[in-house]
Amino acid sequence: MRKGRYYRSKRKIHLKPRFFIVLAAVLLVCLVVSSMVIGRHNIEKGAAAQEQIAGKMAEVSSSFQVPAAAGVLQMAVNEQKKAGGPRVDAELRAKMDEVKAKLAAGDTADLKVVFFSFDDGPSEHTGEILDMLKKYNIKATFFTNGREGPAMEEAYRRIVKEGHTLANHTWSHQYSLYNNPDAFYADVEKLDAYQKQVTGLKQTSHLFRFPGGSANANATCTRGIVNRGYNYVDWNVVCGDGTSNSLSVDQLTKNFIDGVHGHNVSTVLCHAEQKENTRKALDKTFKTLLKEGYTFLPMEYDMELPRQL
Ligand SMILES: [Zn+2]
Repeated sequence: MRKGRYYRSKRKIHLKPRFFIVLAAVLLVCLVVSSMVIGRHNIEKGAAAQEQIAGKMAEVSSSFQVPAAAGVLQMAVNEQKKAGGPRVDAELRAKMDEVKAKLAAGDTADLKVVFFSFDDGPSEHTGEILDMLKKYNIKATFFTNGREGPAMEEAYRRIVKEGHTLANHTWSHQYSLYNNPDAFYADVEKLDAYQKQVTGLKQTSHLFRFPGGSANANATCTRGIVNRGYNYVDWNVVCGDGTSNSLSVDQLTKNFIDGVHGHNVSTVLCHAEQKENTRKALDKTFKTLLKEGYTFLPMEYDMELPRQL
């Protein structure tokens, strides 16, 4: 019995490895088959995921086509507006483009640039200002109003011919028009049409300055001006001639120079068209700043310049 039991138990022991071998074989087959199934599933899943990614990429690239097309269109618009911008030589053009790119990138730390601007002209003194600019080979920007007659027309033409920017400061310079936006826009367009008629330009510069600055206007008018294709510009340097009539030439000169020293990129507002002492301050101001290495540039439509509002 013991032997028999032993035999049986011995037989059981003998059966176990075979059972495990079969079990292992079955498991191995299952493993191979399942891994093949899973692998295939993964391949399919991978292919599906790849298809999904390709779809997304196509979606993204097609969504990029819209701004790209808009960008090309915007560039064409800018080029068209530049046609009304300052007529400058290749050297100044290169400098303007370099500064423009730096302004757009906010990378102005190493710049010493001055955008000098003359408001409220032309006047009987525009020729004197243009002579001073010519003496130092400086290009500036003239924000003009509606001034008629042969002498004024000649002043408009000289501003353009000598490479300065002829910009819009409204026909009538009336602050009250800010309360009547349609009349305000009509006043702007009246000067735009007149500037083209007098100078023969097909396009104006599309640079605009609000009478009294944008802070004196309102959000409706600033939005309206931008929607009509203008870039409006305020200033970050004044000499004080807008608020005082009693400043000496020395004080005005100091104000200009100190003001410019405070900025890497200065946008200077002055009223030399009307103020004699301001005109007298220009010579020393220009001489000093040029000697210090500042570059004077005319403004252009697609430059990012200071705004108050
Ligand atoms: Zn003004």
